[in-house]
Amino acid sequence: MNVALAQTVLDTIKEYKKIIIFRHFRPDGDAVGSTKGLKRILELSFPEKEIVLQNCDFATYLTFLGGEDEIREDEFYSDALGIVLDTATAARISNQKFSLCEKIIKIDHHIPIESYGDINWVEEERSSCCELIAAFYDTMRGELKIDTEASTYLYTGMVTDSGRFRFRSVSGETMRLAGMLLNLGIDTDILYAHLYMKDFEEFRFEGFVLNNIKMTENGVAYIHITREIIDEYGLSTEQASACVSYMDSIKNSLIWIAFIDTDKENEIRVRIRSRFVTVNALGEKYEGGGHACACGATVHDMAGVEALLSDADKLLSEYKSTNEGWL
Ligand code: AMP
Repeated sequence: MNVALAQTVLDTIKEYKKIIIFRHFRPDGDAVGSTKGLKRILELSFPEKEIVLQNCDFATYLTFLGGEDEIREDEFYSDALGIVLDTATAARISNQKFSLCEKIIKIDHHIPIESYGDINWVEEERSSCCELIAAFYDTMRGELKIDTEASTYLYTGMVTDSGRFRFRSVSGETMRLAGMLLNLGIDTDILYAHLYMKDFEEFRFEGFVLNNIKMTENGVAYIHITREIIDEYGLSTEQASACVSYMDSIKNSLIWIAFIDTDKENEIRVRIRSRFVTVNALGEKYEGGGHACACGATVHDMAGVEALLSDADKLLSEYKSTNEGWL
């Protein structure tokens, strides 16, 4: 934990009456959990400050965490401190009005591509941005306050971004901080029900995915979910995008990729996952990025799908021929 930087962030927060918190578009549990968690901690700790969440999109499956604040006029931003969480690049910030803020702090755990903040606090080894916010609270507990609501938001992001505490990024420190939050009284029965129960249509769709996974020569598992399939199963694009995780435990298939048609013409969302092999450079080559073993990308047609698959297959072939112990 970079204590000096954490202190600078806290000192800067203290300087401002108005704080606006942002996150990446197409939010996941970590993006929503960290922003809502930080907001709640700051509200409890500094009741005199105005703290708002200003984001332009929302994920339906996370609505159980509650809403965000209405988007304000441009003038509202000019005297505010903007804090952007869980977002590697400025282009991925959900609300581009972030740049109107007087000062910007970036707090993130993705591989750093762009230092768009006036202060940039990135700890790549953290399993989630929520873990970093929990560590921020823990280090500054003399000055910050927390409650069950804030800890539930942060715990949500810690659970979801770490694959339920399974990923390599999970450390003893992750578990210690998760334990600290759990001790604040989180109702995990309700939380896990919200996160992991599926609609019947989603189960039928999972069956379709399992039956239609394809494999490249060297073991990249993949599936392309077209608009027709999404409509046939009556799913949202967001629900359909969950299919990447259905391919996560096939032996010898160390990279797995879901291509999902979006609502836009000629735009295919790519979700890339791996174990052992580092794939973020592959995502970056195709308008994306993210973490070593979980990243995103965008392609625009079937030629893009084929090119990305060919690169992924080559990467996996190289990895398998130069490494041992993988499975
Ligand atoms: P996703 O498959 O969209 O869940 O993305 C996996 C991880 O990569 C998440 O942490 C995303 O925030 C990150 N990510 C996805 N797309 C991009 C991108 N275009 N640039 C940077 N990071 C990304």
